[in-house]
Amino acid sequence: MIVMKFGGSSVANAERIRHVAGIVKAELARKPVLVLSAMGDTTDHLLEAADEALRQGDVSMDKIESLHLATIAELSLPATVREEIWPLLEELQSLLTGIRLIRELTGRTRDYLVSFGERLSVRIAAAYLKSIDIKALAIDAWDAGFVSDSSFGGAELDDECWRLIPKALKPLTERAILPVVTGFIAKDSGGNITTLGRGGSDLSATLIAAACGADEAQIWKDVDGILTADPRIVRHAKPVEQVTYEEASELAYFGAQVLHPRAMQPCIKTGTPVLVKNSYNISAPGTRIAPALDRKTSPIQAITSRKNVTLIDIVSTRMVGQHGFLEQVFAAFSRQGISVDMVATSEVSISVTLDAVHSLTALKKDLSRIASVEAKAGKAIVTVVGDVRRSSEILARAFRTCEILGVQVQMVSQGASKVNISFIVNDGEAAGVVRALHNDFFEEGI
Ligand code: ASP
Ligand code: MG
Repeated sequence: MIVMKFGGSSVANAERIRHVAGIVKAELARKPVLVLSAMGDTTDHLLEAADEALRQGDVSMDKIESLHLATIAELSLPATVREEIWPLLEELQSLLTGIRLIRELTGRTRDYLVSFGERLSVRIAAAYLKSIDIKALAIDAWDAGFVSDSSFGGAELDDECWRLIPKALKPLTERAILPVVTGFIAKDSGGNITTLGRGGSDLSATLIAAACGADEAQIWKDVDGILTADPRIVRHAKPVEQVTYEEASELAYFGAQVLHPRAMQPCIKTGTPVLVKNSYNISAPGTRIAPALDRKTSPIQAITSRKNVTLIDIVSTRMVGQHGFLEQVFAAFSRQGISVDMVATSEVSISVTLDAVHSLTALKKDLSRIASVEAKAGKAIVTVVGDVRRSSEILARAFRTCEILGVQVQMVSQGASKVNISFIVNDGEAAGVVRALHNDFFEEGI
C-alpha cells in the first residue's frame, strides 16, 4: 500500500484532476490511498466569504460554486454528482447566511466552514475516477478514523487514529477500492469538525501512511522537491535526491518549506519514507525523505539563508567562573516572550540571533541589569545542511569562500541536531555567499 497526496494546486481544475487521475492510475497495483486538499484556492475563498458575511456584506460564494460546478461539467460527470454536491453547497450557503445574521464567527464555525473545500474536492475527484473505471470511494476524514482534540484551527490528532485509520482504510485497499480521503480535517470527540492547521493535509497523508504501515507516502506538490538552494537566489538550484527527516526539518525551518516538520512526525515514528514529487513534472525523481541514506560524495545537501535577523551580543565580566549567568540571560528572553534562534557562547559573552520582528527596548533594559548589550540589525543566517561528520571540510570550504568574497563571518554555530552549520553575515552579503557556496559544493565538482 502507498499513500498519494495532492495539494490544492494539483487539483485546481478539471484538467489538473484528469492529470492526477493519470498519475494515480499508473500506481494502482500498489494499492494507493488518495488524500486531497481543497481545489485551488478554495480554502482562502471560503475564509474570505466568511469574513465578508461577518462584515454584514453579501453572502457570496460565487467563486466556490462556479469552480466546482464548472469542474463537474468539464469532466462530463453524470448528473448524480451534481446532486451529491448540491446539498453541501446549500449547507454552505446557509452557514454563511447564519454567520451574517448572528455576526459571529467562532473557531468552531470557521473549521466547519473551511471543511467544505476538502469535502467537495474528494467527491468530485472520486466521481471522475469512477467515470474512468477506477473503483474510487470518497471518504470524509472522520469516516477514515481521524479523531482530534478541540483546538479549532490547529487540532492535534488523537493517538486513537493509529488504530482507527487502518481499521477503516485497509479493508478497502485490500478489496482493490481506492479511498479518496479529505486531507486537513477531522472531528473531535463531540462530533465537531476540526482542522489541522493550514497546509494540514500533508499531515493527514503521512499519518495514514504511518498508521497503515504503507510502503511510502507520496506528497505531490508543484515543485521538484527539496532544492539545493532557493531558486530565486541560485537559478540552477537542483532537487536534492534524498534527505533524512532531520535534514528536511532543518531545511523547513530555514525557509525551504516543502514539507512542514509536523507532517514528518508520524513517518519518523515508523521509518516510513516520504517522497516529495512534482505533479507538474512527473518525470523528475523528486526528493526522498527517509531515516538513513546512502551518502553521495557531496558533504552537503542544501544551502539556505534567512534574512532580517538581529544579532545580539551580551557581554558580562561577571561571567568568568560564574554559574547561573546563562540562566539569567535566557530568563530575560523568556520574560519578554522572544524566541532565540542561534546561540554562541564564550567565557565572557553570549551571542544570540532573533528575527527582526521583535522590539528590543524592554529586553535591553532587562538584560542591562546583568550585562552590557549590543543589538546589530540587518544580518542574515546562512545555513549549510549536510553530513556533519565532515564538518571540518565543510567549514574550511565555507570560510574559504567567504574569505575570497571578502565577507566577514560574524558568528558560527553547529546545530545540536548534527546536520547543520550556520553562520551570520550581513544581510546584503547573504545571496552572494549562498551562490558562491552553491557553486563550490554543487557545480565545480566535489
Ligand atoms: N486546504 C488546506 C489549506 O489550504 C489544507 C491543505 O491544503 O493542506 O491550508
Ligand atoms: Mg490548500
